[in-house]
Amino acid sequence: MPDLPSHISPVYAPNILSSRIPEYSLNPSSSPHSRAGSPPPPNLISPAFTPPLTPESHTPAVEPEPLPVSADAIAPRPQKLLRTLPHVECIVRARIPTVTGAEMFLHVYQNNVDNKEHLAIVFGSHIRSKSMFAVRPGETERDRMTRGAYEGRLHPGRVTSRAESTSGPGTLSQADRQLFEEVPPLVRIHSECYTGETAWSARCDCGEQLDEAARLMSLPSSTGGVIVYLRQEGRGIGLGEKLKAYNLQDLGSDTVEANLLLRHPADARSYGLATAILLDLGFGGGRGIRLLTNNPDKVRAVEGPHQEIVVKQRVPMVPLAWKTGGKKGINSEEIEGYLKAKVRSHHPQARDRRMQG
Ligand SMILES: [Zn+2]
Repeated sequence: MPDLPSHISPVYAPNILSSRIPEYSLNPSSSPHSRAGSPPPPNLISPAFTPPLTPESHTPAVEPEPLPVSADAIAPRPQKLLRTLPHVECIVRARIPTVTGAEMFLHVYQNNVDNKEHLAIVFGSHIRSKSMFAVRPGETERDRMTRGAYEGRLHPGRVTSRAESTSGPGTLSQADRQLFEEVPPLVRIHSECYTGETAWSARCDCGEQLDEAARLMSLPSSTGGVIVYLRQEGRGIGLGEKLKAYNLQDLGSDTVEANLLLRHPADARSYGLATAILLDLGFGGGRGIRLLTNNPDKVRAVEGPHQEIVVKQRVPMVPLAWKTGGKKGINSEEIEGYLKAKVRSHHPQARDRRMQG
Protein backbone atom coordinates (compact mmCIF):
# COMPACT_ATOMS: atom_id res chain seq x y z
CA MET A 1 0.00 0.00 0.00
CA PRO A 2 1.94 3.04 -1.19
CA ASP A 3 2.22 6.42 0.45
CA LEU A 4 0.34 5.65 3.61
CA PRO A 5 -0.01 8.78 5.67
CA SER A 6 1.81 8.97 8.95
CA HIS A 7 -0.42 9.46 11.91
CA ILE A 8 -0.06 10.37 15.53
CA SER A 9 -3.19 8.48 16.41
CA PRO A 10 -3.05 6.20 19.41
CA VAL A 11 -3.66 2.47 19.34
CA TYR A 12 -7.31 1.76 18.91
CA ALA A 13 -9.15 0.23 21.83
CA PRO A 14 -12.58 -1.40 21.39
CA ASN A 15 -15.41 0.96 22.03
CA ILE A 16 -18.47 0.13 24.07
CA LEU A 17 -21.53 0.97 22.02
CA SER A 18 -23.84 3.43 23.61
CA SER A 19 -26.98 5.12 22.41
CA ARG A 20 -27.00 7.50 25.35
CA ILE A 21 -27.38 11.12 24.36
CA PRO A 22 -24.63 13.08 26.02
CA GLU A 23 -25.72 16.12 27.91
CA TYR A 24 -23.37 18.27 25.97
CA SER A 25 -24.18 17.23 22.44
CA LEU A 26 -23.83 19.37 19.35
CA ASN A 27 -27.28 18.35 18.25
CA PRO A 28 -29.22 17.16 21.29
CA SER A 29 -32.63 17.86 19.78
CA SER A 30 -32.38 14.87 17.46
CA SER A 31 -32.44 12.12 20.07
CA PRO A 32 -34.11 8.86 19.05
CA HIS A 33 -37.14 9.81 21.13
CA SER A 34 -37.70 13.27 19.75
CA ARG A 35 -37.53 12.80 16.02
CA ALA A 36 -41.25 13.14 15.33
CA GLY A 37 -41.91 16.36 13.54
CA SER A 38 -38.27 17.37 13.39
CA PRO A 39 -36.19 17.38 10.23
CA PRO A 40 -34.05 14.35 9.54
CA PRO A 41 -30.63 14.47 11.18
CA PRO A 42 -27.58 15.15 9.07
CA ASN A 43 -24.97 12.58 8.31
CA LEU A 44 -23.44 11.03 11.40
CA ILE A 45 -20.38 9.79 9.58
CA SER A 46 -19.15 12.85 7.83
CA PRO A 47 -16.61 15.11 9.45
CA ALA A 48 -17.38 18.68 10.26
CA PHE A 49 -18.05 20.74 7.16
CA THR A 50 -14.92 21.56 5.26
CA PRO A 51 -14.77 24.25 2.63
CA PRO A 52 -14.22 23.35 -1.03
CA LEU A 53 -11.44 23.89 -3.50
CA THR A 54 -9.42 27.02 -3.18
CA PRO A 55 -7.05 28.40 -5.80
CA GLU A 56 -4.02 27.67 -3.63
CA SER A 57 -1.84 24.94 -5.05
CA HIS A 58 0.55 24.20 -2.22
CA THR A 59 0.50 23.40 1.44
CA PRO A 60 1.09 26.70 3.19
CA ALA A 61 3.91 27.12 5.64
CA VAL A 62 1.77 29.45 7.68
CA GLU A 63 -1.54 29.01 9.38
CA PRO A 64 -4.76 29.59 7.43
CA GLU A 65 -6.33 33.01 7.84
CA PRO A 66 -8.29 32.97 11.10
CA LEU A 67 -11.92 34.02 11.20
CA PRO A 68 -13.18 36.20 14.04
CA VAL A 69 -15.66 34.20 16.06
CA SER A 70 -18.27 36.93 15.90
CA ALA A 71 -18.31 36.62 12.09
CA ASP A 72 -19.65 33.10 12.36
CA ALA A 73 -23.05 34.50 13.31
CA ILE A 74 -23.79 31.30 15.13
CA ALA A 75 -27.40 30.28 14.66
CA PRO A 76 -29.49 30.32 17.84
CA ARG A 77 -29.56 26.54 17.95
CA PRO A 78 -30.66 25.23 21.34
CA GLN A 79 -27.77 23.85 23.34
CA LYS A 80 -28.26 21.64 26.32
CA LEU A 81 -25.36 22.69 28.47
CA LEU A 82 -23.88 20.95 31.44
CA ARG A 83 -24.23 22.96 34.61
CA THR A 84 -20.85 21.80 35.76
CA LEU A 85 -17.92 20.43 33.83
CA PRO A 86 -16.70 16.88 34.37
CA HIS A 87 -13.76 16.29 36.67
CA VAL A 88 -10.62 15.30 34.79
CA GLU A 89 -7.19 14.26 35.98
CA CYS A 90 -4.04 13.73 33.96
CA ILE A 91 -2.63 10.43 35.16
CA VAL A 92 0.45 10.15 32.94
CA ARG A 93 2.41 12.21 30.46
CA ALA A 94 5.30 11.20 28.22
CA ARG A 95 7.50 12.79 25.57
CA ILE A 96 6.87 11.40 22.08
CA PRO A 97 9.26 12.19 19.24
CA THR A 98 7.26 12.07 16.00
CA VAL A 99 8.01 11.04 12.44
CA THR A 100 7.96 14.68 11.34
CA GLY A 101 10.77 15.53 13.73
CA ALA A 102 8.50 17.53 16.03
CA GLU A 103 8.17 16.44 19.63
CA MET A 104 4.97 16.32 21.61
CA PHE A 105 3.88 15.31 25.08
CA LEU A 106 1.06 12.79 25.17
CA HIS A 107 -1.19 13.25 28.21
CA VAL A 108 -3.60 10.51 29.31
CA TYR A 109 -6.66 11.67 31.23
CA GLN A 110 -9.16 9.95 33.50
CA ASN A 111 -12.53 11.47 34.28
CA ASN A 112 -15.70 10.95 36.29
CA VAL A 113 -18.15 10.45 33.41
CA ASP A 114 -16.76 7.50 31.45
CA ASN A 115 -14.03 4.87 31.62
CA LYS A 116 -12.16 5.88 28.50
CA GLU A 117 -8.63 7.22 28.35
CA HIS A 118 -9.07 10.57 26.65
CA LEU A 119 -5.90 12.24 25.46
CA ALA A 120 -4.23 15.59 25.09
CA ILE A 121 -1.51 15.77 22.44
CA VAL A 122 0.53 18.74 23.61
CA PHE A 123 2.98 20.62 21.41
CA GLY A 124 5.20 22.80 23.58
CA SER A 125 6.77 21.61 26.83
CA HIS A 126 5.78 24.91 28.48
CA ILE A 127 2.11 23.84 28.45
CA ARG A 128 1.48 22.25 31.84
CA SER A 129 -1.30 20.13 33.24
CA LYS A 130 -2.26 21.31 36.73
CA SER A 131 -3.47 17.90 37.86
CA MET A 132 -0.33 16.22 36.52
CA PHE A 133 2.09 18.53 38.31
CA ALA A 134 0.18 18.67 41.62
CA VAL A 135 2.14 16.97 44.39
CA ARG A 136 0.60 13.70 45.54
CA PRO A 137 0.96 12.56 49.13
CA GLY A 138 3.76 10.09 49.75
CA GLU A 139 5.16 10.03 46.23
CA THR A 140 8.88 9.88 45.57
CA GLU A 141 10.83 11.80 42.97
CA ARG A 142 11.00 8.62 40.94
CA ASP A 143 7.20 8.28 41.16
CA ARG A 144 6.83 11.79 39.81
CA MET A 145 9.21 11.20 36.93
CA THR A 146 7.52 7.88 36.12
CA ARG A 147 4.12 9.50 35.73
CA GLY A 148 5.60 12.42 33.82
CA ALA A 149 5.52 15.21 36.42
CA TYR A 150 9.00 16.44 35.63
CA GLU A 151 10.43 19.61 34.18
CA GLY A 152 12.89 19.66 31.31
CA ARG A 153 13.90 16.29 29.91
CA LEU A 154 14.51 12.88 31.45
CA HIS A 155 17.92 11.23 31.11
CA PRO A 156 19.59 8.19 32.63
CA GLY A 157 20.59 8.83 36.23
CA ARG A 158 18.28 11.78 36.78
CA VAL A 159 17.13 11.95 40.41
CA THR A 160 14.91 15.00 40.65
CA SER A 161 11.65 15.89 38.93
CA ARG A 162 12.32 19.60 39.40
CA ALA A 163 14.01 21.79 36.82
CA GLU A 164 17.71 21.04 36.63
CA SER A 165 18.56 24.32 34.95
CA THR A 166 16.91 27.56 33.95
CA SER A 167 17.56 26.98 30.25
CA GLY A 168 17.35 24.09 27.81
CA PRO A 169 14.42 21.85 26.95
CA GLY A 170 11.16 22.78 28.60
CA THR A 171 12.16 26.34 29.39
CA LEU A 172 11.23 29.44 27.45
CA SER A 173 13.26 32.53 26.75
CA GLN A 174 11.80 35.80 27.97
CA ALA A 175 10.76 36.74 24.42
CA ASP A 176 9.13 33.36 23.80
CA ARG A 177 7.33 33.56 27.11
CA GLN A 178 5.95 36.97 26.21
CA LEU A 179 4.82 35.69 22.80
CA PHE A 180 3.21 32.69 24.45
CA GLU A 181 1.30 34.97 26.82
CA GLU A 182 0.14 37.23 24.00
CA VAL A 183 -0.80 34.77 21.26
CA PRO A 184 -3.68 32.44 22.12
CA PRO A 185 -2.59 28.82 21.59
CA LEU A 186 -3.99 26.70 18.79
CA VAL A 187 -6.44 24.03 19.89
CA ARG A 188 -8.04 21.22 17.95
CA ILE A 189 -10.80 19.07 19.44
CA HIS A 190 -10.56 15.80 17.58
CA SER A 191 -12.84 12.80 17.91
CA GLU A 192 -11.41 9.32 17.46
CA CYS A 193 -11.86 7.84 13.98
CA TYR A 194 -10.26 4.41 13.68
CA THR A 195 -11.14 4.03 10.01
CA GLY A 196 -9.86 7.43 8.94
CA GLU A 197 -6.77 7.61 11.14
CA THR A 198 -5.49 4.05 11.26
CA ALA A 199 -7.20 2.00 8.54
CA TRP A 200 -6.53 4.44 5.64
CA SER A 201 -10.23 5.09 4.97
CA ALA A 202 -11.05 7.60 2.24
CA ARG A 203 -14.64 7.95 3.44
CA CYS A 204 -13.66 10.87 5.63
CA ASP A 205 -10.70 13.17 6.16
CA CYS A 206 -10.17 12.67 9.90
CA GLY A 207 -6.62 11.35 9.51
CA GLU A 208 -5.68 14.26 7.31
CA GLN A 209 -7.20 16.75 9.74
CA LEU A 210 -5.27 15.23 12.62
CA ASP A 211 -2.03 15.44 10.64
CA GLU A 212 -2.73 19.01 9.59
CA ALA A 213 -3.49 20.13 13.16
CA ALA A 214 -0.20 18.59 14.34
CA ARG A 215 1.65 20.23 11.47
CA LEU A 216 0.29 23.70 12.24
CA MET A 217 1.14 23.31 15.93
CA SER A 218 4.73 22.30 15.14
CA LEU A 219 5.53 25.10 12.68
CA PRO A 220 8.65 27.03 13.73
CA SER A 221 6.47 30.12 14.11
CA SER A 222 3.98 28.32 16.34
CA THR A 223 3.72 29.01 20.05
CA GLY A 224 2.49 25.46 20.54
CA GLY A 225 -0.91 23.99 20.89
CA VAL A 226 -3.03 21.09 21.98
CA ILE A 227 -5.05 18.44 20.20
CA VAL A 228 -7.65 17.14 22.63
CA TYR A 229 -8.30 13.63 21.37
CA LEU A 230 -11.68 12.38 22.55
CA ARG A 231 -12.48 8.69 22.43
CA GLN A 232 -15.85 9.04 20.76
CA GLU A 233 -15.66 6.92 17.63
CA GLY A 234 -18.18 7.48 14.85
CA ARG A 235 -19.48 10.74 16.26
CA GLY A 236 -20.09 8.99 19.55
CA ILE A 237 -22.01 5.90 18.36
CA GLY A 238 -19.06 3.51 18.26
CA LEU A 239 -17.18 1.76 15.48
CA GLY A 240 -19.70 -1.06 15.00
CA GLU A 241 -22.62 1.28 14.37
CA LYS A 242 -20.48 3.45 12.13
CA LEU A 243 -19.65 0.45 9.94
CA LYS A 244 -23.36 -0.43 9.71
CA ALA A 245 -23.99 3.07 8.40
CA TYR A 246 -21.27 2.56 5.79
CA ASN A 247 -22.97 -0.66 4.66
CA LEU A 248 -26.34 1.05 4.39
CA GLN A 249 -24.73 3.75 2.27
CA ASP A 250 -23.17 1.11 0.01
CA LEU A 251 -26.63 -0.48 -0.29
CA GLY A 252 -27.93 2.75 -1.74
CA SER A 253 -29.19 4.75 1.21
CA ASP A 254 -28.07 8.28 1.31
CA THR A 255 -26.37 9.42 4.46
CA VAL A 256 -29.53 10.81 6.03
CA GLU A 257 -31.48 7.60 5.39
CA ALA A 258 -28.69 5.51 6.87
CA ASN A 259 -28.92 7.54 10.05
CA LEU A 260 -32.66 7.20 10.27
CA LEU A 261 -32.49 3.46 9.73
CA LEU A 262 -30.00 3.09 12.55
CA ARG A 263 -31.99 5.32 14.91
CA HIS A 264 -29.00 7.23 16.15
CA PRO A 265 -28.76 10.91 16.94
CA ALA A 266 -27.14 12.94 14.21
CA ASP A 267 -24.22 13.77 16.41
CA ALA A 268 -23.72 12.03 19.74
CA ARG A 269 -20.46 13.74 20.52
CA SER A 270 -20.00 15.88 23.60
CA TYR A 271 -17.33 18.39 24.47
CA GLY A 272 -17.50 18.95 28.23
CA LEU A 273 -14.49 16.71 28.68
CA ALA A 274 -12.52 18.77 26.18
CA THR A 275 -13.38 21.97 28.03
CA ALA A 276 -12.29 20.44 31.33
CA ILE A 277 -9.02 19.18 29.83
CA LEU A 278 -8.25 22.61 28.35
CA LEU A 279 -8.84 24.20 31.76
CA ASP A 280 -6.48 21.68 33.33
CA LEU A 281 -3.86 22.67 30.76
CA GLY A 282 -4.13 26.31 31.83
CA PHE A 283 -6.14 27.59 28.86
CA GLY A 284 -8.91 29.26 30.87
CA GLY A 285 -9.18 32.99 31.35
CA GLY A 286 -8.94 35.99 29.10
CA ARG A 287 -6.03 34.96 26.90
CA GLY A 288 -8.33 32.48 25.18
CA ILE A 289 -7.60 29.97 22.46
CA ARG A 290 -7.63 29.78 18.68
CA LEU A 291 -9.83 26.86 17.67
CA LEU A 292 -8.95 24.86 14.57
CA THR A 293 -12.27 23.81 13.10
CA ASN A 294 -14.59 24.27 10.15
CA ASN A 295 -17.62 23.83 12.35
CA PRO A 296 -18.83 27.11 13.91
CA ASP A 297 -21.15 25.18 16.28
CA LYS A 298 -18.09 23.67 17.94
CA VAL A 299 -17.04 27.07 19.23
CA ARG A 300 -19.89 27.35 21.67
CA ALA A 301 -19.73 23.68 22.59
CA VAL A 302 -16.06 23.94 23.60
CA GLU A 303 -16.39 27.19 25.51
CA GLY A 304 -18.31 25.48 28.30
CA PRO A 305 -21.49 26.37 30.20
CA HIS A 306 -20.05 29.55 31.72
CA GLN A 307 -17.55 30.33 28.97
CA GLU A 308 -14.76 28.86 31.03
CA ILE A 309 -12.75 28.77 27.79
CA VAL A 310 -12.80 31.78 25.45
CA VAL A 311 -12.44 31.09 21.73
CA LYS A 312 -10.75 34.20 20.36
CA GLN A 313 -10.46 32.99 16.76
CA ARG A 314 -11.68 30.14 14.63
CA VAL A 315 -9.00 28.87 12.26
CA PRO A 316 -10.47 26.88 9.35
CA MET A 317 -8.93 23.67 7.99
CA VAL A 318 -9.00 23.31 4.23
CA PRO A 319 -8.79 19.72 2.91
CA LEU A 320 -5.47 18.99 1.23
CA ALA A 321 -7.22 17.68 -1.90
CA TRP A 322 -8.95 21.01 -2.36
CA LYS A 323 -5.82 23.02 -1.73
CA THR A 324 -3.77 21.02 -4.22
CA GLY A 325 -6.37 20.49 -6.93
CA GLY A 326 -6.57 16.79 -6.10
CA LYS A 327 -2.82 16.12 -6.32
CA LYS A 328 -2.56 15.35 -2.61
CA GLY A 329 -4.99 14.42 0.11
CA ILE A 330 -8.06 12.24 -0.05
CA ASN A 331 -9.85 11.59 -3.31
CA SER A 332 -12.80 9.24 -3.33
CA GLU A 333 -16.38 9.08 -4.51
CA GLU A 334 -17.49 8.59 -0.93
CA ILE A 335 -15.87 11.68 0.51
CA GLU A 336 -17.29 13.92 -2.21
CA GLY A 337 -20.75 12.44 -1.70
CA TYR A 338 -20.99 12.97 1.98
CA LEU A 339 -19.40 16.39 1.99
CA LYS A 340 -22.13 17.46 -0.43
CA ALA A 341 -24.77 15.91 1.81
CA LYS A 342 -23.21 17.64 4.78
CA VAL A 343 -23.34 21.05 3.18
CA ARG A 344 -26.94 20.44 2.07
CA SER A 345 -28.36 19.22 5.34
CA HIS A 346 -26.34 20.48 8.25
CA HIS A 347 -24.81 23.77 7.29
CA PRO A 348 -27.06 25.60 4.85
CA GLN A 349 -25.45 28.83 6.01
CA ALA A 350 -22.06 27.39 5.14
CA ARG A 351 -22.69 27.80 1.41
CA ASP A 352 -21.97 31.48 1.83
CA ARG A 353 -18.83 30.77 3.77
CA ARG A 354 -17.35 28.16 1.52
CA MET A 355 -15.04 30.31 -0.48
CA GLN A 356 -13.53 31.94 2.55
CA GLY A 357 -11.51 28.73 2.97
ZN1 LIG B 1 -13.38 9.88 10.13
